[in-house]
Amino acid sequence: MRSLSALELLNIWEWGHNQPSWSRAIKLLSSACPETSIDMLTQLSLGQRDAMLLTLREWTFGSQLVSQVTCPSCGEVLELDFDIAEMRLASLSIESVEKYRFELADYQVSFRLPNSLDMIAIAEYKQPEIAQEILLERCILEVVCDGKYLPFQQLPSHTRDVIIAQMAQVDPQANVSIDISCSACNHQWRSLFDIVSFFWSEINAWAFRVLREVHTLATAYSWREAEILAMSPRRRQLYLDMVAH
Ligand SMILES: [Zn+2]
Repeated sequence: MRSLSALELLNIWEWGHNQPSWSRAIKLLSSACPETSIDMLTQLSLGQRDAMLLTLREWTFGSQLVSQVTCPSCGEVLELDFDIAEMRLASLSIESVEKYRFELADYQVSFRLPNSLDMIAIAEYKQPEIAQEILLERCILEVVCDGKYLPFQQLPSHTRDVIIAQMAQVDPQANVSIDISCSACNHQWRSLFDIVSFFWSEINAWAFRVLREVHTLATAYSWREAEILAMSPRRRQLYLDMVAH
């Protein structure tokens, strides 16, 4: 994996305007990992995918994550400041698709982890319960009870819950949450951290800023967009300062 140039990032941003989250994630990674096939990237578990996106985010915008949340109890707007290391729950690795097995009472279960292909498959199901049911059916590879294969539909609900918990345990990076405490009212809550939407909103804000910079410099100097984007941010800023004064 390598970092992305300003021009590449801008092109991805433009392409991803109307794309779903999973598609943006794969586009970012396929651009940063030209040596890895799209097939391989879409079969990464969501945790493996997100670990790579965290690294790409760090290379693009640095290791500090800053965001704003509104306290659900008192409405105070809080500024959150995290280091990417705090969000990294698993090491970065691209391994082949793994099969996991465990036993629970009379059941022997084998499953694989949800990946981007599963996200594509469930995208059309708007009801979370149905989407989760289809996701589980895709990821549970085999259930044997008393020596007989059991159809997915006959799996007891408590066994399903254990399988979901096992999936979360072996792929912790797929489900990152942060503990938040309100400085105004001391209310505490836990919020999911989604690197794909977080990174994308940053890319969006960055793109608007960079396009304004291109506009200012192209107007002042008649340089082409590609020339301006190829400059380091520092050099671009120095020219912007000169235009402003
Ligand atoms: Zn509060």
